[in-house]
Amino acid sequence: MSVMTLVSYEDALASYDPVMGLEVHVELGTKTKMFCGCSTELGAEPNSQTCPTCLGLPGSLPVVNAIGVESAVKIGLALNCDIAEWCRFARKNYFYPDMPKNFQTSQYDEPIAFNGYLDVQLEDGSTFRVEIERAHMEEDTGKSSHVGGATGRIHGATHSLLDYNRAGIPLIEIVTKPIEGAGERAPEVAKAYVAELREVIRSLGVSEARMDKGQMRCDVNLSLRPNGTETFGTRSETKNVNSLRSVERAARYEIQRHATVLTDGGTIVQETRHFHEDNGTTTSGRIKDNAEDYRYFPEPDLVPVAPARAWVEELRAALPELPRVRRARLQAEWGLTDKDMQSVLNAGAVELIQETIAAGAPADQARKWWLGELARRANETGTELSEQPITPVQVARVAALVAEGKLNDKLARQVIEGVLAGEGEPDEIVEKRGLAVVSDDSALGEAVDKAIAENEAIAAKIRDGKVQAVGALVGAVMKATRGQADAARVKDLIFEKLGVSG
Ligand code: ADP
Ligand code: MG
Ligand code: ZN
Repeated sequence: MSVMTLVSYEDALASYDPVMGLEVHVELGTKTKMFCGCSTELGAEPNSQTCPTCLGLPGSLPVVNAIGVESAVKIGLALNCDIAEWCRFARKNYFYPDMPKNFQTSQYDEPIAFNGYLDVQLEDGSTFRVEIERAHMEEDTGKSSHVGGATGRIHGATHSLLDYNRAGIPLIEIVTKPIEGAGERAPEVAKAYVAELREVIRSLGVSEARMDKGQMRCDVNLSLRPNGTETFGTRSETKNVNSLRSVERAARYEIQRHATVLTDGGTIVQETRHFHEDNGTTTSGRIKDNAEDYRYFPEPDLVPVAPARAWVEELRAALPELPRVRRARLQAEWGLTDKDMQSVLNAGAVELIQETIAAGAPADQARKWWLGELARRANETGTELSEQPITPVQVARVAALVAEGKLNDKLARQVIEGVLAGEGEPDEIVEKRGLAVVSDDSALGEAVDKAIAENEAIAAKIRDGKVQAVGALVGAVMKATRGQADAARVKDLIFEKLGVSG
């Protein structure tokens, strides 16, 4: 394989305008498969969740999964689509060992949902509308494992194993219209779209949409056209990209690769490509021109799907609050600026903050601890905020101790440190580490006397009326008590002892 020297991203965008198309497959979280009663549970013994229908044995007959159809309608509604009054399944005919029926039951020119859009928010807070061509129902294929080679790919393998447990698991494929006008932000739009779509799917409760588990995968179609022109260029289709970061990287790489080929006077071949996580490049898959013919025809073994209007309206009325609306509501409730809300989103802290508030913490406290102390730790350890070994209830308890004056911020940080270190609940840690704020006058009086005695010059200034000098004495007391003194009470005591009124 020859290594190409790529045109820089900036140079690519100086000459060309990217057009993208995103195809996202979502595995529904139904208990059973789309056309039979086999379990969809992950992790079972290979080929233990199969039957004549999902193995495509002669004489078997499929029956459509009602929850699968309902989930498809919900997704369509959440994506602002029209819902078909009547639609059918279609056979997409091709041979591959992971597909024992020799056709995939899918939908073709009659998708259940079409003509929608999803508004996505970019990192700078602006909104970009991605138009949706269609969302259709289909089924997953089985899974092949290629054994004996170094790479796990078919090349170099000695044999292949097939597991049909996944064959027939319901999929919804969501296809965008060509995304134009994103310019240099195309990779960011792609990532933001998949992220928002994932949130929508999760809010509907139709799938966990875990990309790392293959429950959601994205094909990135990309083409370039010279700046200022209309006609689309030839697209490449990078298949099965399986993380948000990879979606962004794949789009970016393809922009540079297309620009390199085009600048050189070459032509882009319409083909599928594979994305490589390790070096962020793509390599050629199979040539795929538009003449590819799957001999689609209507599935004769399944009745058409005709969602009653009243039922569709019932589902629409029962849709949960969608992520975008919810975010706007929370931002208003928490009194955050756009910028503050954006940092909450970027940190993945919405749920955590919400749960902390639900456990009794004021909004500003909840945000402060998650975005400060805990975000820093997540960053340092390269982990997700939600993976920190502290719960929203525990953070709320720390905030309550601060509000009650039992902890100051410095002590609260130590309590959080204790929770993270597995020392127990906040109250236990206060007890065990002896972290409570000292506001008892007899205990503080001694430290105040000492600070005055050791800083006579400052004490004299305060007596002379330069009351702002008190900060230095408060600081000395805080230091002597290792941060445990009640700073407000210390200040009062100093003024009392020096005979001035603050
Ligand atoms: P296929 O089955 O070949 O993948 P689809 O129509 O299902 O075709 O999906 C193609 C995706 O690519 C759609 O999102 C479509 O909007 C988009 N698309 C079509 N033509 C282009 C192009 N020239 N450049 C970029 N994207 C394109
Ligand atoms: Mg495709
Ligand atoms: Zn089955």
